[in-house]
Amino acid sequence: MRTSDRGVWGNIVIDLIDTDRVRGCLLAGAAGDALGAPVEFDSWSRIEHDFGSRGITGYTAQRGFGFGAITDDTQMTLFTLEGLLRARERGTDPVDEVRTAYLDWFATQGGDVPHRTGELVHDRRLHARRAPGLTCLSALEALAVGKAAVNDSKGCGGVMRVAPVALVAEPGAPDWAIFTLAAELARLTHHHPSGFLPAGVLAVMVRALLGTASVEQALDAGLTSLRENAGAEERAETERALHDAVASARGGTPPPGRIEQHLGGGWTGESALAIAVCAALCASDLRDGVRVAVNHSGDSDSTGAIAGNLLGARDGVAAIPPEWLDRLECRDLVEKLAEQVARVRGRAALRGCSGPGPGC
Ligand SMILES: [Mg+2]
Repeated sequence: MRTSDRGVWGNIVIDLIDTDRVRGCLLAGAAGDALGAPVEFDSWSRIEHDFGSRGITGYTAQRGFGFGAITDDTQMTLFTLEGLLRARERGTDPVDEVRTAYLDWFATQGGDVPHRTGELVHDRRLHARRAPGLTCLSALEALAVGKAAVNDSKGCGGVMRVAPVALVAEPGAPDWAIFTLAAELARLTHHHPSGFLPAGVLAVMVRALLGTASVEQALDAGLTSLRENAGAEERAETERALHDAVASARGGTPPPGRIEQHLGGGWTGESALAIAVCAALCASDLRDGVRVAVNHSGDSDSTGAIAGNLLGARDGVAAIPPEWLDRLECRDLVEKLAEQVARVRGRAALRGCSGPGPGC
């Protein structure tokens, strides 16, 4: 809806909904990350043994993780957001700014980086090492000395951090611009198409869910962008995984064993997105969707983070269980960045912007 189409009160109501969903996307992503983190490397049989037939449903301080502790998934999502906001403020290239932000994150993980650029890097809480992805670390080690990252990785470290692309995009930005930017950000570290194309799909889906789309409609938009922006061969694996996600969700919530059997363990980009999409499609609500997304023998924190991004963008903050929000590590940082996003989106709406603009 264009600003000129609404009355003043209509604008205020819609802007409040918009802000709530931006916060929901970020906070539910972080909560999904925190919920899944303690069981990331566990088999479903081990999870079931420890937490019962519904699996893990609340934070736990077991297994060396702090209660509600976030991991590299949320850390890198916040650095993505900081880089994108800097690009919007300065009118600079978003890929350059996010690359710089990722180098800041690399510094928090002990990487040798000569300069610190943003503010997040100075928050000591983000220096905690929470099983960071090795592909991200090695790629950033190369980027830190001005070399290109060389790999053929399709790890899920590319897709799990790009939801902010949809949040910071200009209101009128076309889907292809959102898809392309998210895929480029993932490709900074992951060079296999299944490592970066799912990032484009996720960003387009989040943008659709921030509007009025259902998960099914958002997936249609994501698949359309995938077909329009990637060749048949390079997109085949991602496309197949998403069709498998739809098939798995068709009969209702699949049991954890079937998630792994049909969609993999979520370690790769297309598999992580497929698990999150399947969970979002068949869940009764956000709590259930994130629970389904983390309870399987795989990369539970990443699949939980992605499912949280999707369902939080659709449902807003009120859908997130209060006990997940209350003890969420770095919630204040997430809220602060969400406020900055709201200001950027508010300014863009006031301009009645309809073009892709520098943010995309
Ligand atoms: Mg993680």
